[in-house]
Amino acid sequence: MKQILISMAVYCAACFCAAHASPGPSPIAPAAPIAAPKDRAYAGEIRLSVDASDLERRIVHVHETLSGVGADTVLLYPKWLPGTHAPEGTIDRLAGIRITANGAPVSWSRDPVDVFAFHVHPGSGVRSIDVDFDYLSPTSPKVGPIEISRDILLLEWNELVLYPAGYFARQIPVEASLTLPVDWKLASALETATAGGKETKFKRVNLETFIDSPVYAGRYTARLDLDPNGAAAVHLNLFADRPELLVVKPEQLEAHRNLVQQAYKVFGSHHYAHYDFLYSLSDQVQQNGLEHHQSSEDGSDPDALTEWNKTAYGRDLLAHEFTHSWNGKFRRPADLWTPNYNVPMQDSLLWVYEGQTQYWGQVLTARSGLWTQQQALDQLALTAAYYDVQAGRRWRALQDTTNDEIINPRRPMSWPNWQRFEDYYEESQLIWLDADTLIRERSQGKRSLDDFARTFFGIDDGSFTTVAYTFDDVVKALNTVEPYDWAAFLRARLDSIGKPAPLDGLRRGGYKLVFSDTPSELLKEHEDHSKRVNLLFSIGVEIDDKDGSVREVLWDSAAFKAKVTESSVLLAVNGAAYSADVLKDAIRAAKSTKLPIELIVKTGDRYRVLALDYHEGLRYPHLERDPSVPARLDDILAARK
Ligand SMILES: [Zn+2]
Repeated sequence: MKQILISMAVYCAACFCAAHASPGPSPIAPAAPIAAPKDRAYAGEIRLSVDASDLERRIVHVHETLSGVGADTVLLYPKWLPGTHAPEGTIDRLAGIRITANGAPVSWSRDPVDVFAFHVHPGSGVRSIDVDFDYLSPTSPKVGPIEISRDILLLEWNELVLYPAGYFARQIPVEASLTLPVDWKLASALETATAGGKETKFKRVNLETFIDSPVYAGRYTARLDLDPNGAAAVHLNLFADRPELLVVKPEQLEAHRNLVQQAYKVFGSHHYAHYDFLYSLSDQVQQNGLEHHQSSEDGSDPDALTEWNKTAYGRDLLAHEFTHSWNGKFRRPADLWTPNYNVPMQDSLLWVYEGQTQYWGQVLTARSGLWTQQQALDQLALTAAYYDVQAGRRWRALQDTTNDEIINPRRPMSWPNWQRFEDYYEESQLIWLDADTLIRERSQGKRSLDDFARTFFGIDDGSFTTVAYTFDDVVKALNTVEPYDWAAFLRARLDSIGKPAPLDGLRRGGYKLVFSDTPSELLKEHEDHSKRVNLLFSIGVEIDDKDGSVREVLWDSAAFKAKVTESSVLLAVNGAAYSADVLKDAIRAAKSTKLPIELIVKTGDRYRVLALDYHEGLRYPHLERDPSVPARLDDILAARK
């Protein structure tokens, strides 16, 4: 033993000396540069021809003719995507790339550092190249969200175009055509130049407008006019798995039309030539929620319209995405706007971009009648209750969560309540309620966040040229509505660690967060419809009722302490086979005993018997009116005349 130790010491000493004998590696020479985008006209154009008619194999063929190229051209595939605010470009789905000039092959090589960039050397004198590739749309959810079913197509142009480096996207002209199965109909913010047979040709636009204008197409469609006599047309374009899902009752149409008018009352402007909701009613394709300037990609369960009285949960989607036309697309954080799709974005102001949109989305859903006031209150109770028990706020400021889409592009998480995730949506919604009620209180009801929205988003009526803003611009606009130390107000709520959830807006709105042993109607509907069991506010779990598997465990909850984990499957409760009712009965019974609830759970191939020490009964959040405070929240949710 001793000898070995000695020889090791000798060896290590030699090694140490050797390290000093060499200076160590040097950085390799940088790769060939990729031109930074400049705001100058591109002396050429992209002509794009996309064939998306192969529904069974979900292979999309792209042919692109790019004029204006030089001897050394760099083609970029969009990496940083507006709306997702993150480097989520689908570069992994490109295959079969072939580049030619006048019919002769042109060699290409991928940039060794930036895998979204392709160096192309067409040779001197060549001004135009042809690019062919296949976009391999996911064939199963294992690969990615489904974009193509036999009845619906969700098509985002950023997946289907290579564009030249060195130019602002707004300086690159694009003329596109799309081939679909016969008899399909499409909708898009793009205007059609010619249509007939299987091919639709779109009018020329710049690359920025092009990528911001996806196409939804399908076999079973409907198109509803949401503003028959408006200054700018607004349409609800429906795409469904089956024709009977497209039935819209008059009162539903009325509520959607109200949404447009109520938005105009808030913002006092519109920022589109025409607006198209692209709305899929399907469990066969991805259910999107993605904003664009003159359209939005929206998706719900197939029965969202036909089972109107059972599907209120999540019905704020359209109002949320519509609000983004003002907040996010027209007015955009200065650090989030980028000149093309391969310059990194910074997400520091998402608590305005997404947070205030979350706020207006739910307010407008109530004001338009898409929700009753009670449904809006029930939704807000769930949000407030979640942040009330959120453990992650003990270590992580809300501001830091604005990085989340980049850190984790919505992959499943083990402990989201401790990690925190995208809280700039809903926690910021509570902060904007706080601000709204504060303005109302200080101005004695004369002013509100509606005035901020009109001041901030209502400029340049009719224009859809983006206007960027900074934190200081937000503070300044708030001060024009109601003088106050808004910078300190916002920073205290954004940067603090270990503070309780921002629930002052509820209190000042005339409501208290309370708990009872019965769920709200909204939550009950959601549990029934989604087959989930929400016990987050009692034992601290949400369960998938189809198989008893645990979807989420709240950090520090009774279930956490019993070592229940996400994806554990509940098999038995106090010796009886698991069902939601058996578990709820056991939670009720444990109120009058000190004995723990016994759970048998299966995690992977392990079975465990766990002691769940919980005795406070079932708990579900509600908002209760506090008559000592003016009902400001009722005023906020009431339709504007
Ligand atoms: Zn959003």
